[in-house]
Amino acid sequence: MRTEVLDALRSIVGKSGLITEPEQLHTYECDGLTNFRVLPSAVVLPSSAQQVQDVVKVCHREKVPFVARGSGTGLSGGALPVKDGIVISLARMNHILEVDYPNARVVVEPGVINADVTVRVSPNGYFYAPDPSSQSVCSIGGNVAENSGGAHCLKYGFTTTHVLGLEVVLPDGSMAHLGGRTLDRPGYDVAGVFVGSEGTLGIATKVILRIVKRPAVIRTLLAAFNTTNEAGAAVSGIIGAGMLPAAIEMMDNLSIQAAEASVHANYPDCGGLLLVELDGPEAEVEALTDEVERICKECGAWEIRVAQTQAERDVVWKGRKAAFAAMGRISPSYMVQDGVIPRTALPKILSEIEKLSATMGLKVANVFHAGDGNLHPLVLYDGRIPGQEKLAEELSGRILELCVEMGGSITGEHGVGEEKKHFMSKMFAEPDLETMQLVRCAFDPDRLCNPDKVFPRTRMCAERTGPYKPHPLEVAGVAQFF
Ligand SMILES: Cc1cc2nc3c(=O)[nH]c(=O)nc-3n(C[C@H](O)[C@H](O)[C@H](O)COP(=O)(O)OP(=O)(O)OC[C@H]3O[C@@H](n4cnc5c(N)ncnc54)[C@H](O)[C@@H]3O)c2cc1C
Repeated sequence: MRTEVLDALRSIVGKSGLITEPEQLHTYECDGLTNFRVLPSAVVLPSSAQQVQDVVKVCHREKVPFVARGSGTGLSGGALPVKDGIVISLARMNHILEVDYPNARVVVEPGVINADVTVRVSPNGYFYAPDPSSQSVCSIGGNVAENSGGAHCLKYGFTTTHVLGLEVVLPDGSMAHLGGRTLDRPGYDVAGVFVGSEGTLGIATKVILRIVKRPAVIRTLLAAFNTTNEAGAAVSGIIGAGMLPAAIEMMDNLSIQAAEASVHANYPDCGGLLLVELDGPEAEVEALTDEVERICKECGAWEIRVAQTQAERDVVWKGRKAAFAAMGRISPSYMVQDGVIPRTALPKILSEIEKLSATMGLKVANVFHAGDGNLHPLVLYDGRIPGQEKLAEELSGRILELCVEMGGSITGEHGVGEEKKHFMSKMFAEPDLETMQLVRCAFDPDRLCNPDKVFPRTRMCAERTGPYKPHPLEVAGVAQFF
């Protein structure tokens, strides 16, 4: 990177806010998806919205591509740097700016850690509902960009339900305010467009979030089944009976083994484990608990436990939330997938995954947000064995294709990022992608803001307007774009 550009950045963020040493830059070369790595030219660590704005203005003027980064826990390569570009880390912007209980909202900087919002408001009986399993480390800015989910989003909704307003630095360095402090503002829901845009439309510098009053009673049940099919039938039974638990999570035996080895959650050793959490007024929770127990038993549950104390509840959740990281206990390497299927297709996809696993000779552990039909197959492999990583990628890709074939999606919450951009054309036709590109170009005509992510192939905003014209080889059925 040219010295003048580095000098300009240094003058904004100071010496301690600019990283250019290769050994320090390596920290930023990937996110939680470590298969993809690119060394950025520099990393800047602004400590205010004004600094973010000034940095982006330099990038815009000098045509330097940039990628925003929160905590770097993303699992789709969203924060993967761009070659010859810079990373803008929001880690120093980690202040909770306002807490407004009468209006049940907080205003935070993007680098605030998800769990810290709940820690701050819980003494007053509130919590921040979206709870990714990475909540103790991931940032609100990253959650906004990925529209992150978590176990309790079944009842409370994903991040998008909880973002009221945003302050955003647009890719040309101008500042915009999207949404606001109240719900349902007139005009287009541009804040809704920004949430889930994976860092491609600008950088959030302030976020207005809803907080939720903690329910009077929370009850957590564990139900042990012989198979995930039986557990899946219980999930359909619970939802079909008109109940909306706060969370319904499922783990198969490999995931249970890994979680046990890691956090000793004392789960029953079974083929399919359901974690069901019910919350609300006491009488309602009592009635729903009886109903859930009845449905689980009818579907084959041979043991049902109810957490008796907050400590027991915590350990149940600790096991589930540690499930990804715990895979390291049973496999040298693993790949996390994030497909969605209609809930009713659960038994079908599980048996297909089992067949693929047997054919390709790789084990697959399964952890699900079962209530949402959001699967997290964890493909286990040994990166030291030549060819196994490639095989694991193939198996993961095949699982995503199955999700699409069954009417689902290639991602539920981890985003498309770098990893799944080639799968977008398996899910969307060219006119759909074209429409999405029009939105991106409206925000970022110079394609500087996290370029080359999300979409299957690079397209310049001025490249072409009007309907997509396929290449003659596509028309002839000889070649296909991915
Ligand atoms: C063990 C583990 C468990 C996980 N469990 C879950 C889960 O249950 N649910 C879930 O949804 N995800 C989960 N994730 C994935 C990840 O934690 C989430 O995607 C999270 O929201 C990423 O936040 P981050 O701060 O780490 O963002 P990063 O990884 O740093 O960035 C993610 C994306 O956000 C963009 N970005 C970051 N900050 C901003 C900003 N201020 N403005 C604009 N764009 C920005 C980046 O450019 C990138 O595209 C898990 C990850 C791990 C490692």
